[in-house]
Amino acid sequence: MCGIVGYIGKKNAKPILINGLSRLEYRGYDSAGIATIEDDKIEVVKSKGRVSTLESIEDIKNLKGTIGIAHTRWATHGKPSKENSHPHFDNSKSFAVVHNGIIENYIELKKFLTNKDYKFYSETDTEIIPNLIHYYYSNDLNDDSLKFLRAVTKACSELKGSFALEILSKFNPTEIIVVRHDSPLVIGKGDSENYISSDIPAILSYTKDFYILNDDEFGILTSKTANFYDSNLNKINKKAVNIDWNSSSAEKDGYEDFMLKEIYEQPNSIRETIGSRISLDSKCYIENIDFTKRFLKSINKIYIVACGTAMHAGLCGKVVLEDICGIPTEVDIASEFRYRNPIIDEKTLVIFISQSGETADTIAALKLSKSKGATTIAITNVVGSSITREADYSIYTHAGPEIAVASTKAYTAQVVLLAILAIYFAEILEINSDKLLKLKKSILELPSLVKEVLKNTDDIKDFAKKVYKEKDMFFLGRGIDYTVAREASLKLKEISYIHSEAYPAGELKHGPIALIENDVTVVGILTDSHLSKKTISNLQEVITRGAKTFIITNQNVDNDFDNVIKIPKINTLLSPILSIIPLQLFSYYISKEKGLDVDKPRNLAKSVTVE
Ligand code: GLU
Repeated sequence: MCGIVGYIGKKNAKPILINGLSRLEYRGYDSAGIATIEDDKIEVVKSKGRVSTLESIEDIKNLKGTIGIAHTRWATHGKPSKENSHPHFDNSKSFAVVHNGIIENYIELKKFLTNKDYKFYSETDTEIIPNLIHYYYSNDLNDDSLKFLRAVTKACSELKGSFALEILSKFNPTEIIVVRHDSPLVIGKGDSENYISSDIPAILSYTKDFYILNDDEFGILTSKTANFYDSNLNKINKKAVNIDWNSSSAEKDGYEDFMLKEIYEQPNSIRETIGSRISLDSKCYIENIDFTKRFLKSINKIYIVACGTAMHAGLCGKVVLEDICGIPTEVDIASEFRYRNPIIDEKTLVIFISQSGETADTIAALKLSKSKGATTIAITNVVGSSITREADYSIYTHAGPEIAVASTKAYTAQVVLLAILAIYFAEILEINSDKLLKLKKSILELPSLVKEVLKNTDDIKDFAKKVYKEKDMFFLGRGIDYTVAREASLKLKEISYIHSEAYPAGELKHGPIALIENDVTVVGILTDSHLSKKTISNLQEVITRGAKTFIITNQNVDNDFDNVIKIPKINTLLSPILSIIPLQLFSYYISKEKGLDVDKPRNLAKSVTVE
């Protein structure tokens, strides 16, 4: 995920591009870069760091072109560095590309191009794109007006994954080609000029008329024209639409808050996290890890260490790792783990989870584990973050930047990634392949099932309206549903400031049931068919004592519950990814009813870099 801006017209492109990038910095801030065309030559200036660093570079002062593309990066492949920043050139410096997204098959394509003598200077997946365009362009013997577009469509037909691209060519110095596939891109129509952006607000001060590009549509933009084509080079008739948004609501893509936007981004963030790691006809692939059967056989214990929501993702990971790999797995809170002299040696594998990769306690726990000889894996959302410099292996969730303090899409991405990691281990250990195949199929279904869950939200909103003034709530579940109860309870505390407790449903009668009185709200999670009857009995106990119940389930329940939210059925090991979503929304709507600042709850920070 990143921010893309482009301009083609009569004005100096640079200030427009820089202004647009600054507005898109929320989408990525690892590096920034721009390319303009001057005297039929492409000039690139880029740097690691924020847009303000780019602006301070001496070379940028000389850019005067009226055609340009620009990028602010959220690294997915390769650390944040000048070499990895966009725009990327092909070897002959004829094509410059900025890219938002992930090319899942870039390794194959890099091999193909390397065999044809192309060289690579960055660690990114992106760099194959300009080179592939160059390959098709230079092998095309026709010299007509669509030659540039033809090369781009051919290159794009080879790409798997997600991409929004802006492309400059020195052979066509009065054009910018754009395309999108599962990553956002819009075109703003001006007066003898066109603007390009990842989202509308970045260019809303220049125009209110937009061409909305659909997936796999290509645009050839000149200062006076915007022509659109499908991948077979058939022309598409597209009309500009007038957008009447104000900038701040548009920055959130029309959503009221970043948290709501991020909740709704989950089908996509989960899809990006799965990427090409899971396929039904080959073994699971995890970049940067090359464990052997012998090594995994030697591991007698796994620890998952994290804080807050990431620790709750770890609880789901434990269930999957124990269930399919049969390796005893313990989950610990980093601030406890680091001071309790844990029993660790060379036979221990420790997995650390941190959205930001900067969580101080988690990094300290990692250093401790390494000093005791354990093998360490970091799971994080941020390429090049501190944790990745310490861990033996790093795996990325690819959830895109999470701006709201309360984590939503990072959590579901972590749960998915832990399940993928468990499958990866199980395949190496040659464990029950039928079970693994079923789990893989379920993982691939997740993005569309999450979309389905996000469709029915009215009942959740209505219930939130009824209970938002309450002081206490309880969340109950058993097994994997209890892990979701813990995360749901934390979400409610974080953004609504309502006190809540999560309990394993069977534990209630050993004490906490004393707190249940008339009209108290109890949320029950029922997705494990082996355990739901037991949980239903516990819920019955609270109903008897006057509690209101709000149930999230994929079972057929005909009991006396006040509200039931049905979610689709899925392999129980993955059910947290579906059952947490109504509960993320529940907390969100309560917070909104109370008029609180959902994105920036009191006393909390997005990344906890102190002990
Ligand atoms: N995958 C590309 C990279 O790592 C693009 C990331 C982005 O969308 O910023 O450079």
